[in-house]
Amino acid sequence: MNNRSDIHTHSAHSFDGKSSLAEMVESARKKGLLFYGVSEHFDYEVYVRTGEAKERKIDEAAYFHDARHLQDDYAGVLNVLVGAEFGYDDNGLSLPMYLATYEKYRPDYVINSVHCVDGEDYYFCSSFALKKFERPKQDVYSQYLAIVRASLDVEYPYDVVGHFGYLCRYAPYPDRELRVSEFQKQIDEILTEIIRRDKILEVNSKSKDEKEITVPSREILERYFELGGRQVSFGSDAHNVDDVCAHFAEVTAMLKEIGFTYYTVPCRGERIKVEM
Ligand SMILES: [Zn+2]
Ligand SMILES: [Zn+2]
Repeated sequence: MNNRSDIHTHSAHSFDGKSSLAEMVESARKKGLLFYGVSEHFDYEVYVRTGEAKERKIDEAAYFHDARHLQDDYAGVLNVLVGAEFGYDDNGLSLPMYLATYEKYRPDYVINSVHCVDGEDYYFCSSFALKKFERPKQDVYSQYLAIVRASLDVEYPYDVVGHFGYLCRYAPYPDRELRVSEFQKQIDEILTEIIRRDKILEVNSKSKDEKEITVPSREILERYFELGGRQVSFGSDAHNVDDVCAHFAEVTAMLKEIGFTYYTVPCRGERIKVEM
């Protein structure tokens, strides 16, 4: 299959990436991808609130320089897209930084993701999140959904809504699923707004849980389709060469079962349809 795309990946330019950007791009070429997008973390929302986050701050100039070079080097061989993952900030402190970066570097596309509440990442369950998650699931998930809804109105330009349902990966509840039946009003509002704004809903294949292969879940993707949503992108969220395009076949089979027929690849304001 030569029509595969993976537009959510991280290299060592991100604080938690394991492989160099050159290695990531070469891995995508070897795997025969049609589109390979790198979307480094721009965790300004963490950076502006906590001093400890200095090591999370990306060297923007080095990243865009490196990525644009590789994009040129691979022209005609592999479509390399130079993207960014912007971490949404629910109080707007980091907004000027995101706007300045966007203006200066003009990424080919932006993934807008919610990782945090109050500037702290759901991922770091050990300290912050466990305290947050002491509250009932209903409260915590409702708060997360409200932040995701607000993130859709953010002022910086973005194309893709990243890993909707992210907190499910880390929430320590016996039943951590984000169910349409439990949160229908909020989920419907988010999906409807994504459609209305002509944004792309990412299907992220990085999951800690074997039985649930994607974020958002199949149930949410079915609801999105039912409401008229057709634009989806594939993102492995790879942080090393091995995970580039991981689970693509399973994810695509699932999406086709639901009724989707193409992936949407964003590039400089355009939307490229790639048949599944
Ligand atoms: Zn993310
Ligand atoms: Zn990511």
